[in-house]
Amino acid sequence: MTEKFSKIALRMKSNVIRELLKVTSKPGMISFGGGVPDPDTFPRFEMAEISKEILENEYKLTLQYGSTEGDPILREEYISLLKRESGIEGIDVDNLLVTVGSQSALDLISKILLDEDSIYFVSKPVYLGAASAFSLRSDRHVYMSLREDGADIDEVEQNLQEIENRGELNKVKFIYTISNFHNPAGVTMSLEKRKRLVEIANKYDVLIVEDDPYGDLRYEGKPIDPIFKIGGQERVLLLKTFSKILSPGLRLGIVVGNKTIVKKMVTAKQATDLCTPSLTQRIAARYLQRYDLLSQIEPTIALYREKKDLMLAELERSFGSMEGFHWTKPEGGLFIWFTLPEGFDTAEMLERGKAANILFVPGEAFSLDNTCNNSMRLSFCLPPREDIIEGVRRLKKIVVEYGKE
Ligand code: PMP
Repeated sequence: MTEKFSKIALRMKSNVIRELLKVTSKPGMISFGGGVPDPDTFPRFEMAEISKEILENEYKLTLQYGSTEGDPILREEYISLLKRESGIEGIDVDNLLVTVGSQSALDLISKILLDEDSIYFVSKPVYLGAASAFSLRSDRHVYMSLREDGADIDEVEQNLQEIENRGELNKVKFIYTISNFHNPAGVTMSLEKRKRLVEIANKYDVLIVEDDPYGDLRYEGKPIDPIFKIGGQERVLLLKTFSKILSPGLRLGIVVGNKTIVKKMVTAKQATDLCTPSLTQRIAARYLQRYDLLSQIEPTIALYREKKDLMLAELERSFGSMEGFHWTKPEGGLFIWFTLPEGFDTAEMLERGKAANILFVPGEAFSLDNTCNNSMRLSFCLPPREDIIEGVRRLKKIVVEYGKE
């Protein structure tokens, strides 16, 4: 049967994290693996009330097909949320498209922008979902090294210059970046770097795709202007999602960008899924009308902050004095990137982790060329506090045993 598969289908690989989720439910397992939110943070009673109301009173809309662009009320509400959240102005509903999570937006971007010979920039480590969406269309990625304050912009410029020198600048389609609390690296791009990135993108006329699922989950420090706000809609396409601030089960993402691009994405979406579910869109729209989402997430922020601090303290206690071990210290989001000395293979260690009831995501899952082997992604949002302590203890045991061999 496999001979019937398309070339694209043959390039598809099963997602390591989704595979991990299968063993997560094993009794006694502690998982630092998936970046799934703590379900106790979902406003289930409020959403239950809204769902009942809109199913009874607005069934003609909520149980019907909707427009491909998305629920107009949701888009209006989102415009005002963006303004309150980060001072973004000057956009209207035609700049917005509602997608089935931002994963679907990544897929649409790949469809409308990438040909087989297209070049795109991604960070190393790279967000697995973006890598999967882009690499199906083209394998011509250029890496951006990540530092504590975001991508190495000098390197980006050098690479763009080289591409221009060899006459291929027109092949460069976009620079994909996660501005806040990177998945998996946990780092945030500084304001200076955001400005420089925009300058460089302007100079070489390249689109920036700013993926920002975690920006509202800030535990320390001051919010930084989105790249979208600095570069504007002609230069930047912004991807947002309700997954980490309301519920991933709604499957709602928002694309904000230039109207021509949004329109082309709408056309591509018609072939993909016709429209995003009307029901979940209206639930989110009514939620935004009724509650102040940014205040509603304050308890979530407090909870995750505490868990993040606990995991950092436990890592320090277990690995602080061990040479060659280091980890990022995120100011928000869900992830810590833990790097071990050269020679440690975290994919191999995961097999031992499974036996010892501790899960993490091996670094190679976040590379397009089987590198990052001595790193792993740790997520602190889901495990209860006692599991964070016990989980790091189990991790240490595996590391020590592996290191002895
Ligand atoms: N982008 C990034 C950086 C993510 O971390 C995620 C979720 N893990 C997504 C996009 C996709 O999120 P969703 O489809 O749930 O909106």
